[in-house]
Amino acid sequence: MSDRDGKIWMDGQMVDWRDAKIHVLTHTLHYGCGAFEGVRAYKTADGSTAIFRLEEHTDRLFNSAKILRMAIPFTKEQVNEAQKAVVRENKLESCYLRPLTWIGDKKLGVSPKGNTIHLMVAAWAWGAYLGEEGLKRGIRVKTSSYTRHHVNITMTQAKAVSNYTNSILANMEVTDEGYDEALLLDSSGFVSEGAGENIFVIKNGVIYTPDLSAGALNGITRNTVFHIAKDLGLDIVQKRITRDEVYIADEAFFTGTAAEVTPIRELDRITLGEGSRGPVTEKIQSAFFDIVGGRNPKYAHWLSKV
Ligand code: PMP
Repeated sequence: MSDRDGKIWMDGQMVDWRDAKIHVLTHTLHYGCGAFEGVRAYKTADGSTAIFRLEEHTDRLFNSAKILRMAIPFTKEQVNEAQKAVVRENKLESCYLRPLTWIGDKKLGVSPKGNTIHLMVAAWAWGAYLGEEGLKRGIRVKTSSYTRHHVNITMTQAKAVSNYTNSILANMEVTDEGYDEALLLDSSGFVSEGAGENIFVIKNGVIYTPDLSAGALNGITRNTVFHIAKDLGLDIVQKRITRDEVYIADEAFFTGTAAEVTPIRELDRITLGEGSRGPVTEKIQSAFFDIVGGRNPKYAHWLSKV
């Protein structure tokens, strides 16, 4: 994906896409200490393009960097502006944005002290992460044999580059067997999250999601669903969830910036509920697309026009 036209914002400058390069001795490439965000912009009802919950994503990026003891050499305002500029510069409408901060190539060795910290933002058109069909019909998920990070091994509230080796292993393991995505359990065997998504289950009209002590990322889409559920008069309970609670749930779905709201129709070859997108999931999904598409004025403040 490096060989294409367009611009990438790199350390304060718009750089030609093909020239946005780093050195092979880049610290983050060797030791995996870096942080990133996944952000989406949507074409909204009035024809403009807006980045969804830009400030919350930038806040999380700075929090990730803080946890990883990295001082981003830009202000949040500069990082917000960079994201808007990248969408404009590449003439994108609905798209995905990837801000990433990394440690430079001044020296190697585990300690990053004395090294430089960098930041880039790229954006490109990216459709439904788990497929259009998945959004409508639901996806097939398998519990991974890999355990999700323990909260005191890697830092689970940082969207750290290195946390994704675990996601990659889990995703490859189950997609090799024909499933769409992996579900990971925490080190005590409770449900944590998908390889790149938070999980929700619905039983008897109540929505449940793992609390963050299960090592799940504090997802921004997860938080959006909290607001949607409140508007719909539905209760959300954050608690420890077992995999068999998912098996006997009426409905389940994944959330994420890339995955949006994706129904889960099967876990470990056990059909969940009716084996299709359930009615509560459908309501939440449609409310979600109304909000990101600028069709719900209550949440207009979540849309940053580019
Ligand atoms: N968990 C993991 C591991 C993720 O990678 C993501 C995607 N960022 C999420 C949860 C969902 O977070 P968000 O809704 O903020 O995209």
